[in-house]
Amino acid sequence: MTAQATTGPDLDQLRAWDRDHVWHPFTPLAAWEASDPLVIERGEGVYLFDTEGNRYLDGVSSLWCNVHGHRHPALDQALRDQVDKVAHSTLLGVTHPSAIELARKLVEIAPEGLTRVFYSDDGATAVEVALKMAFQFWRQKPDPEPGRNRFLALGGAYHGDTLGDVSVGGVERFHAMFAPLLFPALRGPIPHCYRCPLHLERPSCAMACLGEVEKLLATHPGEVAAVIVEPLVQGAAGMIVHPEGYLGGLREITRKHDTLLILDEVAVGFGRTGTMFASEREGVSPDFLCVAKGLTGGYLPLAATLTTEAVASAFRGDAHDGKTFFHGHTYAGNPLGCALGLANLAIFDDERTLERLGPKIARLAERLAEVSALPQVGDVRQKGFLAGIELVSDKASKTPFPYARQVGASVCRHARGLGLLIRPLGDVIVVMPPLITTIDELDAMLDAIVAGIHATLPSQESPP
Ligand code: PMP
Repeated sequence: MTAQATTGPDLDQLRAWDRDHVWHPFTPLAAWEASDPLVIERGEGVYLFDTEGNRYLDGVSSLWCNVHGHRHPALDQALRDQVDKVAHSTLLGVTHPSAIELARKLVEIAPEGLTRVFYSDDGATAVEVALKMAFQFWRQKPDPEPGRNRFLALGGAYHGDTLGDVSVGGVERFHAMFAPLLFPALRGPIPHCYRCPLHLERPSCAMACLGEVEKLLATHPGEVAAVIVEPLVQGAAGMIVHPEGYLGGLREITRKHDTLLILDEVAVGFGRTGTMFASEREGVSPDFLCVAKGLTGGYLPLAATLTTEAVASAFRGDAHDGKTFFHGHTYAGNPLGCALGLANLAIFDDERTLERLGPKIARLAERLAEVSALPQVGDVRQKGFLAGIELVSDKASKTPFPYARQVGASVCRHARGLGLLIRPLGDVIVVMPPLITTIDELDAMLDAIVAGIHATLPSQESPP
């Protein structure tokens, strides 16, 4: 087999052990156990390589987190430099330089007013922290409002898999099972223009979905601790791109109704939408900003919940008066992660990552325009350097395929045979390449997706 066989378990052995022992996230168990899993061994730039040396374009940035490619020399070096000092030291009771410097840097680049950084380790924890902080804030502010114990979230929301996050989540398939364990959230309609839950159309709708959120706030005065939203794009819901102005409008109505705004930038932060943070696109400063995934360039789990002085000040008190935020994770602010976070942000400056992204975003738009003309494609949604391609069985009526057909999965399987690793969201094909992807590599990705669509859904109207 490969050179690996002489130094460790061979591919067949690895696959067998994996099937026996590794329980994969979001993965149907029986189908996995009947499969021959792809075993990734190494990465380089936008490519991943399996144990047999086959090369794949990393079309979903290793689950939406890789930013500057795999094995970036500056990130590798930052990791080595930090590991030569200390791999882990807690933030409970002591501190360390990389956590301090990264917090300062995050505050510098974040939307105005966010001055406090609470570290944790994943997107789910970043959001969980924001929810708990918001809840506690209202109880401890100078003029307490203990009735504020509800959250308002959107249909189709995805904020992570811990129970607090699932409570504000709105993806039926993932979340319905846990309903008896969850706290009830107020639910605004998803701003999904292709499949509008209010059965309206842009622009004549005048963003009635935002009006619905405002109605909910108006009918629950003094009850809502915070509104939580994935700004600009609801990822797991199927790359649902919000109409322009929605986010700014949401900020206005949360101010008007005197509640807090939590922006979950776990998926869209760090350049993904073309600006460092998605909230910048509409000039919005939230009360909480949750980041993770790309924070370390996609190298290690690290997350941060940024908030304001106004929030932090409600937590100041003597040790005995219970104002402390009793929440913390062992690896919160891990030094290796923070060193990578600093290196990640330095690369944005050194390589002018965002500036260089412009032409690639334009190229993605061009290619998506072609894709959107395909008879099998109902809608394409793009924001910056991310996109969703929704496959439908009938374009005119927007009829989806039956779930059991697993059309999206089939397209991705074909694409893998052509050297592109992607993962769908139902029948939405996700395009989420590392920001360093070149135009040629982007073209190769789109070519593989289009070929996958034709192979899965041959159609008389489409070219062979
Ligand atoms: N929020 C959003 C918007 C996400 O997309 C995700 C993960 N895809 C999460 C939270 C949870 O992040 P993690 O998987 O790191 O816990």
